[in-house]
Amino acid sequence: MMNITMHAKAEEFINADSTMPVSYSAAKSAFKGILGTTSQGRNIEAYYFPGTSDKRAVVIGGMHGSELSSIEIARVLISELQSRSLSGGRPPYYNVIIIPSLFPDNAEKAKENPDLIGGTSNLGRYTTSNSVDPNRQMPSLGKSFNRENALDDLGRPIEQENLALLDLIERFRPQRIVNIHAIREKERAGIFADPRTTADGIALEYQSDSALAILMALYIHLSGGEVKGNNLLKKPTALYHNDPKVSIPGTFQPRNTKGSQLPEHRGHGISLGSWATTAVNDASYPHLNRSAIRLFTMEFPGYKRSIDYSGAEMKKQVRRNIELYAASILEVFLNKYEVEQDYSFTSRSR
Ligand SMILES: [Zn+2]
Repeated sequence: MMNITMHAKAEEFINADSTMPVSYSAAKSAFKGILGTTSQGRNIEAYYFPGTSDKRAVVIGGMHGSELSSIEIARVLISELQSRSLSGGRPPYYNVIIIPSLFPDNAEKAKENPDLIGGTSNLGRYTTSNSVDPNRQMPSLGKSFNRENALDDLGRPIEQENLALLDLIERFRPQRIVNIHAIREKERAGIFADPRTTADGIALEYQSDSALAILMALYIHLSGGEVKGNNLLKKPTALYHNDPKVSIPGTFQPRNTKGSQLPEHRGHGISLGSWATTAVNDASYPHLNRSAIRLFTMEFPGYKRSIDYSGAEMKKQVRRNIELYAASILEVFLNKYEVEQDYSFTSRSR
């Protein structure tokens, strides 16, 4: 049931170890690939599913290994796409690559201590006690990812799992990304959009990004799921609670570069959300220049997997919410809503 047809060319594409851009041609069938291995030797898996258009999307689970519900959401999405693909069901509009667990070593650490999942010890969030937050080690805003000198904005080495992710983004060139996380404060759960800017940090339009995030949240809410952070009933918002307010297009967009308070600023740095949504205009690597990518941060209420809750009713309820979050990706994000029209990879103007 879980078999996916392997597609040699496509696998070559996903594993390609080239510093030159590959001209993208969509694989015609679904396949599973390996993006790389972790320091403990685990595979970083990725699943590809073809869409009906030439547009591309990436979905990431488990950037924070402690947020196990995010991995469950990605896996539900994968099995739904697999069963559709096997039964000849309707494919999505976007070609999509899903990485269910970006930091599998860290997720394993969290799973080994089920009593501590969601606790303040944050077991599995950081790779070691001296590691930088996985979502704060991206390249400088407006700069491409540089394999020869793989340092983040603050000059620190980027972990190999993120190297694999950045490499994938530069070769697959998605127009949109969902980064699935989980949040302890359940009233802040929901779907959020980072504002897009030019390489110089000048705000582009936000309305279509916001509309797509709200549409995903509405899908979950109307199906009985929980997205309280989007404040749908009073004043719908797609802005993450910790982020600076969205600037008027044409004016400077401030970014939040200071995440969690950790010793030696290990919680500071550029997040994937800020890096992806900033256009790249880098004179040293002009072939890697690109438009700003849409990026949605999904914050699921609670870190635990559905099986970690006690009582059949509670497990069922959480599982249902997880399925709705996955369905909002499948039915809204991967479908023909707010489709990018002017996206380019080598635009030097914006
Ligand atoms: Zn997170």
